[in-house]
Amino acid sequence: MSNDKLIGELDFDPTALKEKYDYERDRRIRPDAKKQYVGTSVGRFEQYSRDPWSDADVPREALIEHTSVIIAGGGFGGLLLGARLRDAGITDVRVIETGGDFGGTWYWNRYPGAMCDIEAHIYLPLLEELNYAPKHRYAYAAEMLEISQRIGKEYGLYDKACFHTAITGAQWSEDENHWHIQTDRNDKLTADYFILACGRQSLPKLPNLPGIDQFEGHIFHSSRWDYSYTGGSSEGGLTGLEGKRVGVVGTGATALQIVPEVAKDAGELLVFQRTPSTVGVRGQCETGPDWVDMSKPGWQRERRENFQAHVQFGTQAGYVRPDVDMVGDGWTGAFEVLAEPEDSVTKRLGRPPTQEELAELSEINDYRLMNQIRGRVDDVVEDPTTAEALKPWYRWWCKRPGWHDDYLAAFNRKNVTLIDTHGQGVERFTRNGVVVDGVEHPLDCLIMATGFESAISYTELTGFDIIGRETTLSEHWANGVRTLHGMSTDKFPNMFFIGGNTQTASAVNAVHLLDEQSQYVAHILGQTEAKNARAVEARPQDVEQWVRIIAESPKNHAMFRFFAQCTPGYYNAEGKAETSADLFIGGRYGDGPLAYYDVLHNWASDGELQGYALKQD
Ligand code: NDP
Repeated sequence: MSNDKLIGELDFDPTALKEKYDYERDRRIRPDAKKQYVGTSVGRFEQYSRDPWSDADVPREALIEHTSVIIAGGGFGGLLLGARLRDAGITDVRVIETGGDFGGTWYWNRYPGAMCDIEAHIYLPLLEELNYAPKHRYAYAAEMLEISQRIGKEYGLYDKACFHTAITGAQWSEDENHWHIQTDRNDKLTADYFILACGRQSLPKLPNLPGIDQFEGHIFHSSRWDYSYTGGSSEGGLTGLEGKRVGVVGTGATALQIVPEVAKDAGELLVFQRTPSTVGVRGQCETGPDWVDMSKPGWQRERRENFQAHVQFGTQAGYVRPDVDMVGDGWTGAFEVLAEPEDSVTKRLGRPPTQEELAELSEINDYRLMNQIRGRVDDVVEDPTTAEALKPWYRWWCKRPGWHDDYLAAFNRKNVTLIDTHGQGVERFTRNGVVVDGVEHPLDCLIMATGFESAISYTELTGFDIIGRETTLSEHWANGVRTLHGMSTDKFPNMFFIGGNTQTASAVNAVHLLDEQSQYVAHILGQTEAKNARAVEARPQDVEQWVRIIAESPKNHAMFRFFAQCTPGYYNAEGKAETSADLFIGGRYGDGPLAYYDVLHNWASDGELQGYALKQD
């Protein structure tokens, strides 16, 4: 027991916990790191990426047309861009999307129980503009798809949208001052501006293990759910699984949502776990029109900013946690435990804390939070061995935090078994099922909740290289990503990219980030048009300055040290990250999202497009 002024009383031994965390981490580190996975967008496993939601083979005439703006991607990013461009007076917009409709993540991910664990009122785009009140505290996939369609209609984005279409090439023409874009539908398109909103984790991946293509049962990836086999819908009712032995591989944020639903209908459910997720209380409920006062102009931005101010990772320069916690959910509650405001530490110590003291306090608070999370497992899960296996042993942010009201309780059902692989993972697949620790588990159906390719290059993400002025994007970034504000680069005129890419900010609420970025891009295009310029391009010296700001951020270095010690996962290049840029959320604007948004707002306020060169002829 310690009774230190800095950390207060402790009813646990931090040294023992640290040793346990190190032990659990070490036994998960694999030499093949990121190579343990295989992508499914091309090649041997292509069928795992096929669109189950609409017929991708419907023929259409190839298009030869010019549009003012081409947007790659019809998810929330592409939709927000379309909306914010229209607000700026730019309406001639074509969205190109590989799926059969708008929706992006929520077009693809329609697995049973799919919902978003960020409060719907701050997550869903354009609620104020659409005067739309979400039905639940955490929106289900069907509602998110519906709101995507609503935005598409409201903002006229269906008129020129090309669905089931993949861009295969993009070249800037310096003489014509526009982009040439080719697609896999033989379209030959041109556009004044080319904007990419391609998401970050859109390409399903599988563990690259022996035997996966020999399994003779039914198998699919979580993001391409096969309702023709399981029956039911994203709301459940999976009657096709009655009497079947079903396996779910993976226990990340997706599996947390799938497991309770499959458990209701499968004859038997086996959950193959390598690393347990943290599972906080979600508190799902119906909301209705009065959940939030939506009458005040700017309410959604205010609520988003309030949420962000509560979930800043570490102490952010100049930002104070507001007294009011508008969202008041598991996210903000976790930061309440994790990040004590510096002034309250100062009061306790009678002097300002040192950086080392703050780091020590943060580690202790992390143990406190994780003890609560592990305690919840004991409270809910009846079988002590299963409960022990479901406990996560790492710092809270080491893996994407999870929330669910029914996941842990699902393991109390007689038809559900946790197959804990003790950090080693599934070994291999056979004709009949899955092998763990030399034991074969026969299965009728295998659901691969094994995630998405991440921390890949931009060219790998989009599936094509972009040819700008003088160079390709892959060459231009061969020695590291170079951007201005994370959204443009020199030598690529009239081209922008939005999303949580490197050199932007790392936001829990990705849609907040996308909206800020969309407004930034719309502002630039609006100003470029207003000034009658033909092209706008980030200046190399301003790009370099932004790269320096990111590289020299002490918070980025601190973040790297934190994640480097974490249990392996896609956050830290499977435990092999060598620099901040290797981290999934590394190489970001160090002072956090609110400070980053302030940079964008202040930058835009004078309308001068500083850092950009305009070409007039
Ligand atoms: P993840 O990458 O998070 O999880 C993949 C899972 O597969 C992990 O549990 C991993 O284990 C496991 N796995 C991989 N290989 C093996 C193996 N050989 N044997 C056993 N298990 C294995 O993917 P998700 O689809 O869960 O999540 C992807 C992203 O989507 C996340 O960023 C998440 O934030 C987001 N998401 C967001 C939601 C929201 O509500 N906002 C909901 C769902 C997803 P290990 O951990 O050991 O690597």
